[in-house]
Amino acid sequence: MAFNFVKTAANALSGLFFPDLCAACDRALSGSEQVLCLHCLLNLPRTGLHRLPENKVQRLFTGRLPLVRATAFTYFTKDGMMQHLLHQLKYKGRAATGSFLGNVFGQELQADGWLEATDLLVPVPLHRQKAYRRGFNQAALIAGGIAAATSLPVAANALERVRDTGSQTRKSRLERLDNVATVFRAGKAAQIRGKRLLLVDDVLTTGATLEAAGLALLEAGAASLGIATLALATD
Ligand SMILES: [Zn+2]
Repeated sequence: MAFNFVKTAANALSGLFFPDLCAACDRALSGSEQVLCLHCLLNLPRTGLHRLPENKVQRLFTGRLPLVRATAFTYFTKDGMMQHLLHQLKYKGRAATGSFLGNVFGQELQADGWLEATDLLVPVPLHRQKAYRRGFNQAALIAGGIAAATSLPVAANALERVRDTGSQTRKSRLERLDNVATVFRAGKAAQIRGKRLLLVDDVLTTGATLEAAGLALLEAGAASLGIATLALATD
C-alpha cells in the first residue's frame, strides 16, 4: 500500500517533469492516452483491407502461398506516420509502440469478426543474433499486442530463422526472393499441426519473407494460413 503510494507519487512527479510524448507527433499525452495522442490514433493511415475478401494483400500472394485471409493494418509511405513509428520501434527502442499498435489492430480485426477462424498467432522471427542486438523482435511485439486484445495464443518459437538474410534494401526483388528462400524452419511441429495460423509481421513489401515463413508452416502441417501485417509498403 505504502509502496504503491510512493510509486504512484513518483510516477505523477516524473509525469510533471517528463510527460510521455505521442510517438507520432511529440505532443504531451494526456492521462488516458498511451503511446499515441487521440488525434494520431484516429489518423493512423488505416487500409481497411480486412473488410475486402479479395484484397491486394491476398492477391500479392496468389500462386505463391495459399492464404485463407490476408490484410495489412496501415499504409507505409515515405516520410509518413508509419515510417516514423516503425523507425522508432526498430531503432529507438520504443517497444511499447509495437505492442500498442498490435493491440489497436487486434481490437479492430476482432470487432469485424476477422479472427474467428484463427487458432494461433505466429510472429515472423528475426535471426537470433539480430534479435539479440535489438533486444526484441518487432513482429513478436505486434503479435503480443494482437494477443492482448483478442486472447489468442502466440507461438513465438513455432518458426526459426536458420540464417540471417543480411540487409535487404540494396537488393532487387529477385535477389531478395532468392536470399530469403529456405531460411525458415518450423521449430515445434506439434504446436502447429492442424492449427489455423495467422502469420504476423511488421511491414509487407515484396512478401518474400512471409512467403518463405508461410511455406515452412504449411510444410509442418498447419491446417490453414492467414497473414496480418502492421503496415503495407506502397510504391
Ligand atoms: Zn500525436
